[in-house]
Amino acid sequence: MIRTRFAPSPTGFLHIGGVRTALFSWAYARKNQGTFVLRIEDTDLERSTPESVKAILDGMHWVGLDYDEGPFYQTQRFDRYKEVIQQLLASGHAYYCYCSKDELDALRAEQEAKGEKPRYDRRWRPEQGKTLPAPPEGVPPVVRFKTPLTGSVAWDDAVKGRIEFQNEELDDLIIARPDGSPTYNFCVVVDDWDMNITHVIRGDDHVNNTPRQINILQALNAPLPVYGHLPMILNEDGQKMSKRRDAVSVVDYAAKGILPEALLNYLARLGWGHGDDEFFSLEQFVEWFDLKDVSPSASRFNNEKFLWLNAQHIKAADNLRLAQLIAPKLAEAGIDPSSGPCLSDVIALVKERVQDLNALAAECDYFYKTREPAAADVEKHLADDSKARMARFAEQLAALTEWNAEAIHHLFKPFCTAEGIKMGQLGMPLRVLVCGTTQTPSVDAVLALIGKDEVLRRMGQAQA
Ligand code: GLU
Repeated sequence: MIRTRFAPSPTGFLHIGGVRTALFSWAYARKNQGTFVLRIEDTDLERSTPESVKAILDGMHWVGLDYDEGPFYQTQRFDRYKEVIQQLLASGHAYYCYCSKDELDALRAEQEAKGEKPRYDRRWRPEQGKTLPAPPEGVPPVVRFKTPLTGSVAWDDAVKGRIEFQNEELDDLIIARPDGSPTYNFCVVVDDWDMNITHVIRGDDHVNNTPRQINILQALNAPLPVYGHLPMILNEDGQKMSKRRDAVSVVDYAAKGILPEALLNYLARLGWGHGDDEFFSLEQFVEWFDLKDVSPSASRFNNEKFLWLNAQHIKAADNLRLAQLIAPKLAEAGIDPSSGPCLSDVIALVKERVQDLNALAAECDYFYKTREPAAADVEKHLADDSKARMARFAEQLAALTEWNAEAIHHLFKPFCTAEGIKMGQLGMPLRVLVCGTTQTPSVDAVLALIGKDEVLRRMGQAQA
């Protein structure tokens, strides 16, 4: 039974790198009929905030990655961590260290002066035949893990291939602070063990933690999960994504009018591929996904491609759903869709023209209110003779007994022939007059949707 997890630290917003990690973890579980667990790693009490927990839960909900178990909170598991720390102390895999901060600082300064890599000298590490100093009075000790002194730790990373660390490179890491609270790497180990995680899929910024975690798991006689470390996502300039420069939070993407399925589709394509397929559904992704096809090197975010994908997903999306999604944006712009044509019909007509939901909302405005045309458009398309011609065309529209795109369309050719003009000389002024822009879908369909009374009102008003 495959069990994967997403284990964010709630110290900020939900980062798109995090969403991609969640996506790959989720997909691997779904693909294998496994279980996907959400765990909130909130042991860093100073940096973790309830707002950030909420941002993670909301973000997961927005992208639609559902979890089968959790959210589990590390802060609710302290008793369990303390129990395992006792177990490691009892089995001799961990020990108390009474070094004060001053002592450690002095040690570090000494090592640096000698040009050595600063590291704990294991003075409190019990060894056969070694006499330890007497524990000082009133100093609360930390607990350190007894890292093997020799040999190496290696694993076959599901993404990056074989990775090996020499144990002598690793410190005797602190697993409990002086106040007894457990440290980060240790909690991850106990959680992955207790939660029976079979595949740890996470960002490659954690590669250096993995040998430490494996050593602790081995000391606990716990089974080792498969590790798969996902490479970073870089921005368009090949730099690490940063909050200052780039849209990195899920909320940023929602605000930019991105559909969650488009974000997931694009994130899936970053560092993973299925032939030349660019546009696909989450179901297809799950069907095709395998960890071994994830690229081991970093990938770059390409905004143009991303927006193209968003446009494809907008085209494919249900119009009623799109109507619900843009309703708040329309309200913000002072538009009440109930005052005009059916919003999902309007969306069906204009959605091919946009790449994001904000543009979609903006594109709907002239169906519900008169848009002020640009002066240049008025000058170009609505000179006096053109205005007079519009009045003649308005009469023909007024005479229509049936109001639909086809009936309106049938007026065009005879009118242009009678006036001795080309279609553009009718269509453009008509657009500017009725819609306030030259950029609209097929004008007969637009007029049909706006409705006869409103079209005639707008045409009359502009002539006055
Ligand atoms: N809490 C870690 C983070 O947010 C992830 C730890 C893990 O996946 O093992 O980066």
